[in-house]
Amino acid sequence: MMTAIRWKLLKFCQLLYQLLYMRVITILVILLCLGFGMALVGTYYLSINLVDSQAMHYAKVAVKTLNEARILYSKNVVDRIKSMDGVLVIPEYHTVNGAIPNPATYTIELGERLSDQSKGMLFRLYSDYPFPNRQVTGGPQDKFERDALTYLKEHPEASFYRKEQFGDRLSFRYTEAVLMEPSCVACHNTLRSSPRKDWKVGQVRGIVEITQPVDNLTLIAEDGLKIIYTVLMSIIALAISGLILVIGRFRAINQELEQKVLERTAALNHLATIDELTQLINRRQFNLLLQQEWQRMQRQEQPLSLILCDVDYFKKYNDTYGHLEGDNCLRAIAQVLDNNVKRSGEFAARYGGEEFAIVLPGINCLEATRIATIIMNAIHCLKIPHKTSLNHSYVTLSMGIATTIPNDKSSPEQLIKSADRGLYQAKEEGRNRFIIWNEPQP
Ligand code: GH3
Ligand code: MG
Ligand code: MG
Repeated sequence: MMTAIRWKLLKFCQLLYQLLYMRVITILVILLCLGFGMALVGTYYLSINLVDSQAMHYAKVAVKTLNEARILYSKNVVDRIKSMDGVLVIPEYHTVNGAIPNPATYTIELGERLSDQSKGMLFRLYSDYPFPNRQVTGGPQDKFERDALTYLKEHPEASFYRKEQFGDRLSFRYTEAVLMEPSCVACHNTLRSSPRKDWKVGQVRGIVEITQPVDNLTLIAEDGLKIIYTVLMSIIALAISGLILVIGRFRAINQELEQKVLERTAALNHLATIDELTQLINRRQFNLLLQQEWQRMQRQEQPLSLILCDVDYFKKYNDTYGHLEGDNCLRAIAQVLDNNVKRSGEFAARYGGEEFAIVLPGINCLEATRIATIIMNAIHCLKIPHKTSLNHSYVTLSMGIATTIPNDKSSPEQLIKSADRGLYQAKEEGRNRFIIWNEPQP
């Protein structure tokens, strides 16, 4: 069970590796695009958060300022002045001579003055129990204000805020509860116009709210984002172009290297199998191919013929014309041999110094003799002078021919031995001839 899972895991990793290797550019482009997408989303939310946190900070400062102004007015003005006879502290102070506003009215009017119509900024104080002179505007005016009142009555120490469409603008609305303080309770519970007279310290008297439009800030943030996106896109476009260039170059170098390796391998193979002087198959390759043809002919139950050739009096030739001329002579002979072995599986090889071998699969003894005759005539036609030869004025060859139908009891070595015997016999009988050597059957 574990082995099967491990095997599947290994297979998956191999597939992944192959995919990575084959599709490296595509994968890098996808990864870069993913990164770009994540950067876009990240910066977008970052900008929104920045706008929100700035609005929140401003709202907290403004609410604190209003609260502090109310407390300061309550303690330092109202508490001191109300002991004086004839001074009334009432919400409707405009209508009574010598009266001053109570702290809530003072704060409401401060808020109204701070509200900026042109910038859409709005400060408000409202409650469940507005004084009669604020019956119209002193209570919650919309759903947000009702929600804020409900929430803050349950959580007086918390704050309640929301970003929503206010009028025709996207605004950040922030509220905090205004709590009844000891200095306020007596007044509120005794004042004639007070709508409620059982206030206790700590109860939520009302709500202070600041509404500030954030669409302008959002627009500024969006402009900034556009610049960031453009820069990011340029960087990514440059990175992708660079990657494509580098990987393209890398692949071109790789192809060049592969080509060189192929060429070098071919050159090495050539060196390992071909004789440099004559360009015929060398002795090592001869052994391999003879073995192959032996097996093939054994399967097909067809004859296999071998002709071994040796240049007559070649030592004398070298002595007479020099070693370089000797090389040229060997090349010319090799060419003749090569020209006469054209059918599939046939080949001529350099067997040793001035010795050659011709392998003829599917060729019987009679046909091999015919080929040997053609080659001998072709060598005569070359008319390579050999004045020190003891039997001819031109270069000649002696040959030994052997043919067999390969089987398990015989071997390629035996075939070579037979052909060699034929060659030896040809030399013995005066050279410039071929002898067919048939091994007596055991
Ligand atoms: P035979 O007729 O009995 O074959 O006599 P031979 O002189 O041909 O035979 P021998 O074995 O005495 O000499 C072979 C000569 O072939 C000796 C050697 O210098 C020469 N030979 C072998 N390989 C090369 C070669 O690559 N180039 C040249 N120029 N000569 C070679
Ligand atoms: Mg020899
Ligand atoms: Mg010789």
